[in-house]
Amino acid sequence: MLAKTGIFAASRYWNFLPNARLYAGTARGYRADLNELLFGSERANPKEVGAIITEFQSGTCFYCHRPLKGEAAHVDHFVPWSRYPVALGHNCVPGRAACNSKKSDRLAASVHLDAWCEYQQRNAKPLAGEFDRFGIINDFPSALRIVNWPCNQTFASHGLAWLRNQELQPLTEGWSKPLMPLLN
Ligand SMILES: [Zn+2]
Repeated sequence: MLAKTGIFAASRYWNFLPNARLYAGTARGYRADLNELLFGSERANPKEVGAIITEFQSGTCFYCHRPLKGEAAHVDHFVPWSRYPVALGHNCVPGRAACNSKKSDRLAASVHLDAWCEYQQRNAKPLAGEFDRFGIINDFPSALRIVNWPCNQTFASHGLAWLRNQELQPLTEGWSKPLMPLLN
């Protein structure tokens, strides 16, 4: 009995390990992370997430503002899935397939971060209400920290962020300005 528990616990531990490293220094201990770590991550139904965020974004691509007419919105993870593999509602924005695939696993440039902050300032609460209604995991304070952390790292290491098409640029000096009032 004891041995079984031991094996189970050990395998669980090993499952945690790759993710735990990603979380180190970010938002470890927040509700969303704990749930995901303890019970495993299931990506939220992209159709439901897509429908909600598209409505809040007035049917346009978050990045190029072109209408999503005639094409299903792709759910873009604002902080890429490769950096934060939890489908937190507030980290999802609607995008055209072209923008979504070009951004790929990059962080978004400062201009997009400004827009994300402004969008959340207006919509974080009603978005949370909709996410809750459809059982989509969300925790806005965690989302803010999850955005802040890789941006901090990228800025400090002079890394590049995605602007549009194939254009990349460093985060601007004042990248964190719109984020700070939301974090505090
Ligand atoms: Zn676009």
